Amino acid sequence: MSQYQKEREVAIKAIADAAVICKNVQREISPDVLEKKDKSPVTVADFGSQALVCKALGEVFPAIPVIGEEDSKELRQPESASLLERLIDVVQKVVPEATSEEVLGWIDRGGQDTYCDRFWTLDPIDGTKGFLRKDQYAISLALIVNGEIVVGALCCPNMKAQDGTDGVIFVAEKGEGAVEIPLGRTTETKISVSAETVQANIRTCESVEKAHSSHSDSARIGALLGITAQPVRIDSQAKYATVARGDAEAYLRLPRDGKYREKIWDHAGGVLVVQEAGGKVTDIKGRPLDFTHGQTLAKNIGVIVTSGTFHDAIINAIDELKIGQFE
Ligand code: AMP
Ligand code: MG
Repeated sequence: MSQYQKEREVAIKAIADAAVICKNVQREISPDVLEKKDKSPVTVADFGSQALVCKALGEVFPAIPVIGEEDSKELRQPESASLLERLIDVVQKVVPEATSEEVLGWIDRGGQDTYCDRFWTLDPIDGTKGFLRKDQYAISLALIVNGEIVVGALCCPNMKAQDGTDGVIFVAEKGEGAVEIPLGRTTETKISVSAETVQANIRTCESVEKAHSSHSDSARIGALLGITAQPVRIDSQAKYATVARGDAEAYLRLPRDGKYREKIWDHAGGVLVVQEAGGKVTDIKGRPLDFTHGQTLAKNIGVIVTSGTFHDAIINAIDELKIGQFE
């Protein structure tokens, strides 16, 4: 039995439960939700996902805090009554006996915001815009012990598994490799990064949202390195999964300004999946990501994820193009 086998098992179950809520809510999104810029479906699914993950974690590991993206403050306001009602409704489809106090309590288990030597970090729905578009989104969960990610798990309900079925869980345990599991099944297939060695053949991916990563800087890197393919734009940590299973050689997250600090829950789950699949993750200066500063990667700027082979070439190109050197 591996060291974190129990934690790995519980993480898989937790994100699979949360995916049921996300899928139920997403199925009901009508086209006019997008037109009306109504974000309430993603809000409901976000809270529901966090509630179910924190419930599952709390039952087995009551003493381990969770640094999650959401807290229930907004939901407890009188003006959120109808939102809360919708939330309880979707949670009860999965946990019929759940009360609103219980659901709010589960959400608040994710309210830790400071670093400690053992914690989970959770993004209940990463890629909210992708979720609303019925495109890619992810539920991301990781366990961090003494600043090191030891379990990383991603659920991508709208990604296809290698066997062609809909929905995939990617999971990694430190030192034990990375696998994918079709959502709703138990078959584990080992994944590994691309073995491509020709620089011109690098396939990159980046955020759909240009506010999250500079598209123009990624084009400059592509031109400098002689990369022929256009970057593929994907929402959420599905980009980490894409590199981890060899469908792209790099994921570039290039800062738009010198101020934004990446959130740990936008990365921790994906980082270990890529590393255990044989890839490499650093910031744009080539420094390892530092998960010891609470909610943010306060000591890092941007994120570069690769299959390994081209990592130094990309970091050198960023330096040469003076990307991320603000003032
Ligand atoms: P993605 O789907 O890769 O575009 O990333 C979605 C995540 O981007 C969200 O979960 C946000 O936490 C994060 N985000 C929000 N603003 C920024 C920003 N200015 N730069 C980078 N990431 C951001
Ligand atoms: Mg996110």
